[in-house]
Amino acid sequence: MLRTGHYGVSLLVFAPIGYALVGAGVTAPAFVLGATMLWLSMLPDVDHRLPGIAHRGPTHTLLFAALVGSLFWGVAAVVTDSFGSVAVSLGDASVGLAVFAFAVGFLTVVGHLVGDALTPMGVNFLWPLSGKGYSLSLTTADSSGWNYGLFVLGVFVTAAWVSTVLGLV
Ligand SMILES: [Zn+2]
Repeated sequence: MLRTGHYGVSLLVFAPIGYALVGAGVTAPAFVLGATMLWLSMLPDVDHRLPGIAHRGPTHTLLFAALVGSLFWGVAAVVTDSFGSVAVSLGDASVGLAVFAFAVGFLTVVGHLVGDALTPMGVNFLWPLSGKGYSLSLTTADSSGWNYGLFVLGVFVTAAWVSTVLGLV
């Protein structure tokens, strides 16, 4: 999956979560989640530049998603230690900044994995527990039709709910 396709799929993964958050009056965290999912949507493909790491290997797993989430958690914990505890309001509930940060890191990687799972090469989500790759085989990674189509769909779906929430339509 190319960058445009990943942007689109990440937006499609974000859309229902963002919609629910904004619907609960949680606008700023929704924005942070969406922006991070786009900004770091290509993070797992860092394996192209890591010597000795196979492409779509360890960085394309739920374990890596948890690792990135933990890294975000750690940064948030340092911030919390320095500035006092920060709660992220989620409508009726609220979670600590570190928990929210974990979720943002985790979902960012998951958004990328979903995109790659559409291609025949698939993604081995459960490595190292399982050696089995999962693929929906809907499109090749470099299909410009699918990549642009997913991008347009992601932007459209996100724009549609944002404008609904803002009362523009
Ligand atoms: Zn990838």
